[in-house]
Amino acid sequence: MNPFERSFQAVRLRLREAEAHFGRGAGAVGMVAVGKTHPLESLRQVAALGQCDFGENYLQEALPKIEALADLGLTWHFIGHIQSNKTAAIAAHFAWVHTVDREKIARRLNDQRPASLPPLNVCVEVNVSGEGTKSGVHPTALDSVLAAVACLPHLKLRGLMTLPRPQTDFERQRAAFRELAGLLARYRSSYGLDTLSMGTTSDLEAAIAEGATWVRIGTAIFGPREQMDKIAE
Ligand SMILES: *Cc1c(COP(=O)(O)O)cnc(C)c1O
Repeated sequence: MNPFERSFQAVRLRLREAEAHFGRGAGAVGMVAVGKTHPLESLRQVAALGQCDFGENYLQEALPKIEALADLGLTWHFIGHIQSNKTAAIAAHFAWVHTVDREKIARRLNDQRPASLPPLNVCVEVNVSGEGTKSGVHPTALDSVLAAVACLPHLKLRGLMTLPRPQTDFERQRAAFRELAGLLARYRSSYGLDTLSMGTTSDLEAAIAEGATWVRIGTAIFGPREQMDKIAE
């Protein structure tokens, strides 16, 4: 018996029920399985259940997993804070980066994307009101960052990402996601955007209600994490 089967099927069901409940098409929302702090064997077991998209926050932790699981043909998403000395490895080993938050990082990812690979799919992280962390572009600066990223030939600008401060109230969860959805609506046609990366274990329904196309789920699949700050970037 696969130890993750029950939790994996339960979260798939939550996702499908939210799609149906909020009038989203069946399959409109993709799930990135967030494996940070979890061992490679756990990721392998979740992949065996049919999961293809995996997200990691810390490059040092991600690289050995990517190498060890290379036989599975998984799609890797970088969802952590990006330091400029890490961009070369991120550009070489990931298919998606959800957390571009400044032009300099975008330029480095573009310049360092290996020519043998297709353009790197990129979301710009936005600091919506109620944002928990300091990272992310302020909405007033978003247009100029999007314009800069859109010009870079080895990046494919896909959309917007946010990680709001955890809230238990459903309407408050929705408010932060609605703000990101409003920004997507504003810039969608100018930049050809099609992606909203938002929603985690505790707020995936609110994110799906507001138009998420990727939810990023760790705890509901893998169980609780150890203290995060033991892991260095
Ligand atoms: C850890 C993390 C997640 C997953 O959060 P869970 O609450 O474990 O589902 C999603 N997105 C980002 C950016 C994360 O760092």
